Amino acid sequence: MGPGVLDPLLADAGLAPAPDGSLAMGGVRLAEVADTVGTPAFVYDAGTMRLRYGTLDRAFGGLPHRICYAVKANSNLAVLRLLARLGAGADIVSGGEMLRALAAGFAPQDIVFSGVGKTDEELLAAMAAGIGHLNIESLAELRRIAMLTDFHDHDVAVGIRVNPDVTAETHPYIATGKGGLKFGIPRDQFAEALEVIDAAGRMRLGAVAMHIGSQILQAAPYVAGMERLLELLEQARTAGHAPGVLDLGGGLGIRYRDEVPLDPGAWIAPLRGMMQSSGCTIHVAPGRYLVGSAGVLLTRVVFQKHSGGREIAVVDAGMNDLVRPALYQAWHEIVPVQPSGAPMVRIDVVGPVCETGDFLAIEREMAPLAQGDLLAVLGAGAYGFAMSSNYNSRARAAEVLVDDGRWAVIRPRERLTDLFRDEVTDPFAGKDS
Ligand SMILES: *Cc1c(COP(=O)(O)O)cnc(C)c1O
Repeated sequence: MGPGVLDPLLADAGLAPAPDGSLAMGGVRLAEVADTVGTPAFVYDAGTMRLRYGTLDRAFGGLPHRICYAVKANSNLAVLRLLARLGAGADIVSGGEMLRALAAGFAPQDIVFSGVGKTDEELLAAMAAGIGHLNIESLAELRRIAMLTDFHDHDVAVGIRVNPDVTAETHPYIATGKGGLKFGIPRDQFAEALEVIDAAGRMRLGAVAMHIGSQILQAAPYVAGMERLLELLEQARTAGHAPGVLDLGGGLGIRYRDEVPLDPGAWIAPLRGMMQSSGCTIHVAPGRYLVGSAGVLLTRVVFQKHSGGREIAVVDAGMNDLVRPALYQAWHEIVPVQPSGAPMVRIDVVGPVCETGDFLAIEREMAPLAQGDLLAVLGAGAYGFAMSSNYNSRARAAEVLVDDGRWAVIRPRERLTDLFRDEVTDPFAGKDS
């Protein structure tokens, strides 16, 4: 990949050469981080997150709005605290994320609880905590909440996440706004949803919401979705409801390779008139846009091998650390932390996990690699650590936050013995059978 394509990716990530020629993030040499905490390690740049948040925030101009960070993209408490301090709300999808958001300092009323399968336990915990509103995704969920609120002593605000039935060009696993998928209430059930709210004593409609998918690079599907939200808003008002929030969801895409991401200004511009006329506070729920480019995964080459005419580099980060290539055929740019300038060759960069799908890149054009070389996998700030697992009994990686020349571990690498700490070796030992 030529420097012309790589440059914007490095700039997006806050990466630049240090005086010694090696790659630095936010003024911190990545080699220093790797030498201290080991690899694999996720490194996030606070400066990039602030920049992203500020750019999106300013794109709204004077429109009343709130950026609710989608916690699932990267739920480390330090990342959450940073965004909370900037004024973000939080969009969560589980009771675990609720506890994280509260622990990181989000005010309960600034938290929106989304997700298709909230359990009674999660719903009751959210109500008890005074969560801003519950975005409901089915009539069944709405009825369940109506029942649970009977035990409740104050009103619970719900948002109806509708399925706007719009198609967004993205990977099928991250398209969520098409009819027939599990997400959202179909538009033809909206009237019935309003009736359930009417009939419940302690429930009110706080928001009309959508989330059409992820890694979206055009404004058109948002415009189409927004038009449908406005129709439903009208329908809700006619039925006597007064929701104060229109929630457009997240999904704003980033550059992983040579995409042209939608600039927040270009995202909001075609929506602005509709936002204004709605009279509502506009919520957006970006995850990837705020943190995706802000993170790299550091990994070292363990071995090299040749097989079937292919050059293979086995690195110490696997699909358990970064599952996106295996799950979505995702492209992540991989750059050597110490650039060599040698002519490019084609390399398969694979992990140590016992799965053929365990790769970071296939036939990637890059300078030759040697054992011990340190690599930075770009675009790993979102859906990286958050989707990582202990598959193959591998400890999850360390996480590091860089901020303008300083750096700190924000989650130490897991200890291997912790992985089986709670397991019971011989459950029936000494018992009659
Ligand atoms: C995943 C998700 C988001 C965030 O998606 P990004 O593509 O990371 O912006 C927002 N809202 C809901 C309901 C989600 O499920």
